[in-house]
Amino acid sequence: MPKDLLRSLPSIERLLTRPLALTLTAELGRERVRDLLRDITDDIRASAGREQFSQDGDPEPGLISQIEQELELRAARATRPSLRRVINATGVVIHTNLGRSPLAAAAIEAIAEVASHYSNLEYDLESGGRGRRESHCQELLARVAGAQAAVVANNNAAAVMLVLNTLAGGGEVIVSRGELIEIGGSFRIPDVMEKSGARLVEVGTTNRTRIQDYERAITERTRLILRVHPSNYRIIGFTERPTVDEIAALSKRAGILSYEDLGSGCLVDLAPYGVSDEPVVSASLKAGISVVSFSGDKMLGGPQAGIIAGSLEIVERVRRNPLMRALRVDKLTYAALEATLRLYDRGVAEKQIPVLSAIAATREDLAERARRFCSRLEATVSGAFDIQVEDGESVIGGGSAPDVRLSTALISLRHDSLSPSALDEKLRGEAIPIVTRTERDRILLDLRTVAEEEEEIILNALAEIVTSAQPTPMSAASSEG
Ligand SMILES: *Cc1c(COP(=O)(O)O)cnc(C)c1O
Repeated sequence: MPKDLLRSLPSIERLLTRPLALTLTAELGRERVRDLLRDITDDIRASAGREQFSQDGDPEPGLISQIEQELELRAARATRPSLRRVINATGVVIHTNLGRSPLAAAAIEAIAEVASHYSNLEYDLESGGRGRRESHCQELLARVAGAQAAVVANNNAAAVMLVLNTLAGGGEVIVSRGELIEIGGSFRIPDVMEKSGARLVEVGTTNRTRIQDYERAITERTRLILRVHPSNYRIIGFTERPTVDEIAALSKRAGILSYEDLGSGCLVDLAPYGVSDEPVVSASLKAGISVVSFSGDKMLGGPQAGIIAGSLEIVERVRRNPLMRALRVDKLTYAALEATLRLYDRGVAEKQIPVLSAIAATREDLAERARRFCSRLEATVSGAFDIQVEDGESVIGGGSAPDVRLSTALISLRHDSLSPSALDEKLRGEAIPIVTRTERDRILLDLRTVAEEEEEIILNALAEIVTSAQPTPMSAASSEG
């Protein structure tokens, strides 16, 4: 910074009387704007390497506008929420770091309606007396999952804890060694078991467990036979695992309850879309498993929740557990869950639930979208990028169906001066951050997880990045100084 500019640094009082500061004051308060201006002018001083200089004389208009540009930027940053929308261009459908399932429009409407008004959350409109919050999803869960009754907890981890504690606290639970899994975020079956007050009885081996192994482990202390869907990993090769029918039959024969932690909670069979090894909720209940639990925000595509479904008697016992009060969900979750379940009931789930339509999108659809995207991109940023459409794969994510690969078309971008990691960083820094895949020499966009209306936002962001990456005559001149 040249000396004469420093000498003419405008005073903060003076900056505070200008229109931009006045507008921001209305939003942030005068104190906050003053602090921001102080930080900016301090930074200018520091970058000039001088502590002191006079503030008399006429400030350079260019300097004022530079300060105000910075003020606008910092004020925007200071007011933007911490939890923000992002665009998921990774193709990972249930991306745990990116909030798992985006909700269906119907679920969002239901949340808005219930959130902005009073509701009959625990009020029986027929009797005019007290009602139960779990009543709201009962009928729907009965129809779409084949459950007699259901209750909803904060997430599936809470559901597992509740079921184990209610049905097996102080007793023994038999689990196969091949199912002692860890889900991301340090959820480990043995640890949850311990916290629940139930004692884990391991049977079989990592790769092979037979129904006889369970049978032999049954004692008078056995309360539950647990089957866990090994969500995020698969054992392949020389393996054996009893079927749900075998577990259900043993449970009946021995008079011991059975429980299946299903993980993702597929309500419809996704085999037609290439996802063949995710268990369908109704199949387990139909086979005779006493109780199941699953997440609301994995394959189901609804809000974060853990659904416990089974016989009236078992669900009632879980509901009466004092832990239930600590782990229950609020009205917004019920609103979103009910609306999401209704889409299954109406047979429009694959069309209207975002994670299901993302899974159902075919390679041809995606290749067509990718080609259209690329020609629009060429038209705006011609020459700045090497743009290609290449074959690739999307994954389900969220600890579901780890061996499923969905064929997709990837948009590959190489910029002539920006490295892939620099480009990735710029995209993440956008007002609506865009998360992509970075490979060694390029970034990849997978439109499977991008809504059509988000394409425009990505195109604009890329155009803006290209423009600002071009050395303008001014920035070239100042970088010499
Ligand atoms: C994901 C998962 C959980 C935990 O569910 P959250 O809803 O994330 O709490 C528990 N068990 C299995 C088998 C899972 O796949």
